[in-house]
Amino acid sequence: MAPRLCVRCQTSKAMLKRPKTQEQVCRECFFTLFEEEVHETISATKLFRPGERVAIAASGGKDSTVLAHIMTTLNARYGYGLDLFLLSIDEGIAGYRDDSLETVKRNEQQYGIPLTVVSYKDLYGWTMDEIVAQIGTKNNCTFCGVFRRQALDRGAVLAGANKIATGHNADDVAETVLLNILRGDVPRLSRCANIITGGDSPLPRVKPFKYAYEKEIVLYAYYKKLDYFSTECVYAPYAARGFAREFIKDLEAVRPMAIIDVIRSAEDFVFTSASEDKLPQPRNCERCGYISSQPVCKACVLLEGLNRGLPRLGVSRTRGKRGEKAGLHPDVERPLPPSASAARAELGPAGRADNTADGDAGAAAAPASSSGRETGVHLDSGGIADDACVEKRTVGMRELEERIGGWGLGPGGDGIQGTNSEGAGKDVAGVVGSSIRGARSVRKVQIEYELAEGT
Ligand code: SF4
Repeated sequence: MAPRLCVRCQTSKAMLKRPKTQEQVCRECFFTLFEEEVHETISATKLFRPGERVAIAASGGKDSTVLAHIMTTLNARYGYGLDLFLLSIDEGIAGYRDDSLETVKRNEQQYGIPLTVVSYKDLYGWTMDEIVAQIGTKNNCTFCGVFRRQALDRGAVLAGANKIATGHNADDVAETVLLNILRGDVPRLSRCANIITGGDSPLPRVKPFKYAYEKEIVLYAYYKKLDYFSTECVYAPYAARGFAREFIKDLEAVRPMAIIDVIRSAEDFVFTSASEDKLPQPRNCERCGYISSQPVCKACVLLEGLNRGLPRLGVSRTRGKRGEKAGLHPDVERPLPPSASAARAELGPAGRADNTADGDAGAAAAPASSSGRETGVHLDSGGIADDACVEKRTVGMRELEERIGGWGLGPGGDGIQGTNSEGAGKDVAGVVGSSIRGARSVRKVQIEYELAEGT
């Protein structure tokens, strides 16, 4: 039987079926199609301007390695006029990052573009291995993700970059869209499918692979024999996002264009300006000066927790529309005012609603009351004395956020304060109880809170 020919060139033997379009194509036509589609994405969205210095976020994995290869290729082929360099973050994970950094160092030679490496140890004084030794393997990815995001900004600023290009692909974008739908996070949903984020900041991030399928990136790397690192992080089994990823893969198996359709759907959503307004506006962190949506950035809140031996400071059990909320974890011990301390001592452990649960295991805790006037509940809400309490009731996390405009550490680094006119200058007491219903992935947490005059 004659070999099946490539549907594009009609001369060479078809070597693969494109995951995105199901076309049977030869290897060379696949390379051309893949590269031209990325070029089309870059030119149609005016992603870069001539003369820009662009940091390619490089982990040594398949996405960033293919991105480095493609950006170098297209920059030369189409004369983008970009000053490209590789930017790697060394999280300090033995057996993972040290090995993958060796791959990036080889990429530096292979693509002829310089490499800048910044490490968590230098920036924050901690490696991820040290952080995990302190906090365990439950919330490690929260620390790692927050620190990495800021470390990329810092490294890019140090190296004089105008933009950061990341290897986020179509699968990643579709996953994020789905997660934001599942969380009801309309403000983030309105922006997560954008190809440029932080466009109004001095250091925008761009996703040249926004429409590139993960499977095609793997095929491209494989057939091009690119040098990339494929070992998973040693802490990866504890990473989240798995269910959305699996769902996207299932959709793709039934209908390959589903990934693009999810992205296009998000692009076509029409949002009211009110939902846009709810997304916190970028500002500079009062402590480190880097970009933040709150007065004190999440990296500083997490770092403070580590340095004070309170690693759960800044790690929340819920993911609201602004992500995990700084400083509201129930296990964080905060100093009690004298009156509350005395009353709490009288009550003993029974006065504390069980809010030590990290997930579904401690579901029993919520006080049934929605008024929250029981003495024990009140005292357990972080120790704000009765006479300081100006309001106290049980609400959902989102409602609380909307009222107080988000939260951050108080000026002295103690206490958690709201950020809008209602919440500013007021201490927001911690979680006093939680009710967790349903399965692990569909839990609902009720937050009981107080607004009290700050000191
Ligand atoms: Fe960091 Fe978690 Fe990713 Fe490992 S799996 S690199 S700890 S975010």
